[in-house]
Amino acid sequence: ATIYLKDYAPFGFVADAVHLTFDLDPHRTRVSARIEFRPNPETSDRTFFLHGEKLRLIRAAIDGVEVEPDLTDTGLTCAVPDAPFVWEAEVEIDPGANTALEGLYLSNGMYCTQCEAEGFRKITYYPDRPDVMSTFTVRINGPHPVLLSNGNPGASGEGFAEWHDPWPKPAYLFALVAGDLVAHSDNFTTVSGREVDLNLWVRPGDEGKCAFGMEALKKSMRWDEEVYGREYDLDVFNIVAVDDFNMGAMENKGLNIFNSAAVLASPETSTDDNFERIEAIIAHEYFHNWTGNRITCRDWFQLCLKEGLTVFRDAQFTSDMRSAPVKRIRDVIELRARQFPEDQGPLSHPVRPESFQEINNFYTATVYEKGAEVIGMLKRLVGDRAYAEALDLYFARHDGQACTIEDWLKVFEDVTGRDLSQFKRWYSQAGTPRITVEEDWRDGTYTLTLSQTTPSTPDQADKLPQVIPVAVGLLGPNGDEVRPTQVLEFTRARQSFTFDGLAARPVPSILREFSAPVVLERETTAAERAFLLAHDTDPFNRWEAGRTLAEECLLAMITKGAAPDADYLNGLLAVVRDDTLDPAYRALMLGLPSQSELAATLHRCGVTPDPQAIWDATETLRQSTAQHLQDLLPRLRAETQVDQPFAPDAEQSGKRALGGAALALLTRLDGGAQATNDYGRADNMTLQLSALSCLLKAGKGQAELAAFYDQWQHDRLVIDKWFGLQVGLSAPENVAETARALTRHADFNWKNPNRFRALFGPLAMHHAGFHYSGGAAYEMLADWLIRLDPVNPQTTARMCSAFQTWRRYDADRQALIGAQLDRILAQSGLSRDTTEMLTRIKGA
Ligand code: ZN
Repeated sequence: ATIYLKDYAPFGFVADAVHLTFDLDPHRTRVSARIEFRPNPETSDRTFFLHGEKLRLIRAAIDGVEVEPDLTDTGLTCAVPDAPFVWEAEVEIDPGANTALEGLYLSNGMYCTQCEAEGFRKITYYPDRPDVMSTFTVRINGPHPVLLSNGNPGASGEGFAEWHDPWPKPAYLFALVAGDLVAHSDNFTTVSGREVDLNLWVRPGDEGKCAFGMEALKKSMRWDEEVYGREYDLDVFNIVAVDDFNMGAMENKGLNIFNSAAVLASPETSTDDNFERIEAIIAHEYFHNWTGNRITCRDWFQLCLKEGLTVFRDAQFTSDMRSAPVKRIRDVIELRARQFPEDQGPLSHPVRPESFQEINNFYTATVYEKGAEVIGMLKRLVGDRAYAEALDLYFARHDGQACTIEDWLKVFEDVTGRDLSQFKRWYSQAGTPRITVEEDWRDGTYTLTLSQTTPSTPDQADKLPQVIPVAVGLLGPNGDEVRPTQVLEFTRARQSFTFDGLAARPVPSILREFSAPVVLERETTAAERAFLLAHDTDPFNRWEAGRTLAEECLLAMITKGAAPDADYLNGLLAVVRDDTLDPAYRALMLGLPSQSELAATLHRCGVTPDPQAIWDATETLRQSTAQHLQDLLPRLRAETQVDQPFAPDAEQSGKRALGGAALALLTRLDGGAQATNDYGRADNMTLQLSALSCLLKAGKGQAELAAFYDQWQHDRLVIDKWFGLQVGLSAPENVAETARALTRHADFNWKNPNRFRALFGPLAMHHAGFHYSGGAAYEMLADWLIRLDPVNPQTTARMCSAFQTWRRYDADRQALIGAQLDRILAQSGLSRDTTEMLTRIKGA
């Protein structure tokens, strides 16, 4: 059944207090609920429907009198008084059989929960919707040394613990953890003097991987006080690491639960990228305490209200902790890799969707990442000061409420006096706007004429113009900035902006800092791009100039058989050689557009992409780059040596990134001699993995790969890397076979989402391998999705997006993929999650 935003209606009852008692048992956990309800004055509807799935009802009572509700697979209805009453229910659930990892489940003998979005209904009967907020008091009975729930700790003793959360919250923020865990503890004093106990709970053996996460938490707490004026509001903050988790992490009130991959870190086992991602996720979940928990969503259509804003906040945090330009470039790379394909294909949906069948399918790059871009645009349009005032008003006005995008925009309207009705189209119109540029120069006046169109998307044929903040600066002929960055408010289909009093025709730097999530289609010469690559004063656009040069060079190689372009190679050499620039930035300069991105661009230009041709062109360009930079490589390697003890900070990680990029180029010239040497000397995971990757990419390194396995076989997170590397670095013709062989490995525990994704993520991401002619990879992925779906629908449905770009390719490939989509869809009992994804991917 499809659910629509327009059908929203409040629940007929208010829940004033929830009391839960858990008697833990692997297969027969008892949950006793006692809930104080009263009629909701906001509505006259008195239908008492409680969600409930996979529950065995033992007893139900109203005001102490037993009742017999009408039960279905999805919940119950019951006659209730038209006055306040106490609902009681006792149910039995089976956490040990819960492989979907939603609700209460077991992971390595430890009980844990995941309730967002609609998992609480697998724990007890409840109005499982975010606009029903209540205080929770929880008692856990169980033989486990550690028993945790939300809020502040209450009484505890042998075999039990009580918790009370004074902050009203929706059920999706409920959490419970029980097990044999150890804590890495610390504390934090808030700005107004509240003492908070901090604990990071892990399985015995993982104690050594907690320190970094704890530091990240304390930095996040301080940053949210300093930048947003937001203080923590409980006496304890607990984080728990679990090995079986569908997503990255979850912001349950006072008890965040993390995928162990998203929190555990040590220099020996984690790469610099892992550290940075962990710091960002810790911050993200912590920031949800205000943007998500204190102010939550009225319904799941409003998901971007908390996710877009919280992603935006965690990006600001990372920019402050590390390098802002580097963070921005990395985010744009991610946006183009993950959100653009979604926005430009069959899964396209607005940042605020208007309908869904399974909400778990809408935890997407569009809701999260494009949702964050929308906040960034809003901030750019109103300015930093108005943004800060609007946020203060948002927190003051809506604390304790379940809100909508309308509430969010209203605070900006009230603070600035602006009419944001056109801006609101960013929330309702799907698809990536495309901007084209015309230029005119006469009598010292430079005119920029911009046009915007958004291609139609499923369910939305016609698009209206959006408010697009276009940050522009102008450079003079010798590379000076003759006009600093200015934000053009581009609101019409076609609109001109003039700059006068200029001495010479300027070179424009458009969409600085990537000021809007659009495709800028500006045709210009390689010479002008090279000029911007050499001179642009905006670091993002300087990088973008190099990126576009590389892309145009690759497209010419693919479609015209051209040779690698000298402007690109020379421009790149000049930037990478410039040691006044941040090594991390120079490492990013050495990146190329992904092969999937090239396929998207070709498709947009009306050319059917040939994955093998894209692969070949990319390889050729890398080889030419290695030769062109040959003399510089030894210097880069010397310059990027780190002599200090390992620290996963921006400075050291930037050096390692540049050193790694240099090693990759060097390996193309020396056949792996240096990488073999580096592998032997590596004393941290970043260096170890970078050397091993170079060797595998060169078709070597089998001895190192085996040694790596022996060294790390006890460490799940490292073995995930071991699986992923082999698939991701295979030659296109070997990818499917490599993956198939690995599925037979004793360590391939496919029911663990991290392990499943470690193997199949790189398979799907290997553009030329996944699409290798014959379709072996398509078939193998389909086989495994069929196998996983009955066990874990959420993870299966997410992996289906590997097929979302299928209409870009030739008829043979479309036929092969189409057959696999049909084969999966024909499975009896296919989950709602997977059915919805595949139906949308197939299209009308
Ligand atoms: Zn989030």
